[in-house]
Amino acid sequence: MKSGDPQSDAVEPVSNRHAASAAMISVNDLTVWYGRQPAIQDVTLDCATGTITALIGPSGSGKTSFLMSLNRLTDLVPRCRVSGVVRIAGVETYAPQADVVALRRRVGMIFQQPNPFPLSIYRNLELPLREHGIRGRDELSMRIERAFRDVRLWDEVKDRLDRSATILSGGQQQRLCIARALVLEPNVLLMDEPCSALDPISAGAVEELIGGLRRRCTLVVVTHNLAQARRIADRVSVFWHDGEGGKLIEEGTVEQVFAAPREKLTAEYVTGRVG
Ligand code: ADP
Ligand code: MG
Repeated sequence: MKSGDPQSDAVEPVSNRHAASAAMISVNDLTVWYGRQPAIQDVTLDCATGTITALIGPSGSGKTSFLMSLNRLTDLVPRCRVSGVVRIAGVETYAPQADVVALRRRVGMIFQQPNPFPLSIYRNLELPLREHGIRGRDELSMRIERAFRDVRLWDEVKDRLDRSATILSGGQQQRLCIARALVLEPNVLLMDEPCSALDPISAGAVEELIGGLRRRCTLVVVTHNLAQARRIADRVSVFWHDGEGGKLIEEGTVEQVFAAPREKLTAEYVTGRVG
């Protein structure tokens, strides 16, 4: 918006935000059920391109279900059903003609427990590239080196690329998993408590890395570490289970959610009184 525009200081109405082309992720009225039980209900949220959104809230509030619905990992869960509209870079995730393979290339996922393939360090990155049609030897090795450099792992692995990824430490494995997602140049990276299984030093390295990925892709990061959410996030979404199902109870900038929350539950959660 131009300065001098009379509306430039006004808070954009929620109803207009979905029209903003800058939203990489646009979620409208998303409900996820397991059988008859809703895990999350009527979640509406936009994530602007190149930002980091932290998802916080107690266990069982539906954070993982929300992440999994964004790249349709929920398709793999028996009896799981999703309603509502999800758009990633404008493409509808649940359209009947949606290309799920292309979707998962554009939307990568990192889990709490690093899950390298039981293959060599090199093959961990080569495999997804080959699956997505990249075959040339030089092209492969160039992309793989770049991804390992991006996660600051190259110097630690370059002399043992043919060794099994399982010999790496937990922190190295998690950085490898991030490299394996990044090598496909995704639009979005979803991270489900990516640091919480790591020792403090490795967790710090991964956290720093996440902060640096902003603007290369759009990130949604679940964390129970509120200090971490403050350090890395642009915006924070608070999930809460109200007895019926998980709800998005509050969303805003880091400053807003931590310093001036609108909801009493958020205030209690961020001060450690509940949850
Ligand atoms: P969070 O990540 O915030 O802890 P989850 O998304 O894992 O929340 O879980 C939300 C709710 O959905 C919980 O009540 C949980 O028990 C339920 N749930 C999660 N996964 C499954 C599943 N595969 N089958 C049935 N219920 C599930
Ligand atoms: Mg979870």
